[in-house]
Amino acid sequence: MRNLMLKDKKLERLAIMGGTFDPIHYGHLVTAEAVRHQFQINKVLFVPTGHPPHKPFFDVSHTEHRYLMTVLATVTNPYFDVSRIEIDRKGITYTIDTIQHLKKIYGSNTELYFITGADAIHEILTWKDPEEVLRLCTFIAATRPEYHKKDLLKKIEQLRQQYGSKIDFLEVPSLAISSSDIRKRVQENRPIKYLLPEPVENYIFKFGLYQ
Ligand code: NAP
Repeated sequence: MRNLMLKDKKLERLAIMGGTFDPIHYGHLVTAEAVRHQFQINKVLFVPTGHPPHKPFFDVSHTEHRYLMTVLATVTNPYFDVSRIEIDRKGITYTIDTIQHLKKIYGSNTELYFITGADAIHEILTWKDPEEVLRLCTFIAATRPEYHKKDLLKKIEQLRQQYGSKIDFLEVPSLAISSSDIRKRVQENRPIKYLLPEPVENYIFKFGLYQ
């Protein structure tokens, strides 16, 4: 692990893929790969959330399940890695702590990107230290096809003017897949095949998640 970190220190551009990933699906994977290609990212680091401030603890699957499903889903892509940074942090996990930790590891020569759902952009001013979060990272907001792009562009422009933030967005058709729909399908005994990698599907059934 230490060698990996040292080798990684030379990265020019690192993208942090933050999300609950309950479960991870092809929409997330296609998003990460599209951003990697478009922004010439050297590595995408998937960071499953620990105990985020905006969700009741009992509403989310156990951190180890979400971490392991993320590992299973990303293992075939040499540009993808998964971090336990939030899973292992005690108490509520804030994105600012994650970003500052990674900044320390990779140093100032590595440019940080943060990929997440477009909803996050609308709520970002409610996060802990939003100005610092926006200063340290370029944000990539992934939108579903039906997303209200006009409102998003307005918000992005407002944040740019107020905080000088760098925010881009990417429309990802495969984000028509959603974690909540997958959870509902499992509960209703409907198929989830082809919505997420097979090992993740097998994991869900093996451990009886979302029943
Ligand atoms: P969420 O509320 O579960 O998701 C909101 C929407 O965005 C959902 O439609 C979700 O789709 C989508 N989404 C989430 N992550 C995505 C990704 N990486 N790529 C594409 N779409 C994504 O949001 P969340 O997952 O809990 O949080 C997103 C990130 O914001 C996390 O890293 C979290 O730690 C951070 N956050 C930080 C703070 C703070 O520091 N105070 C507060 C809130 C959120 P799916 O359900 O299909 O994934």
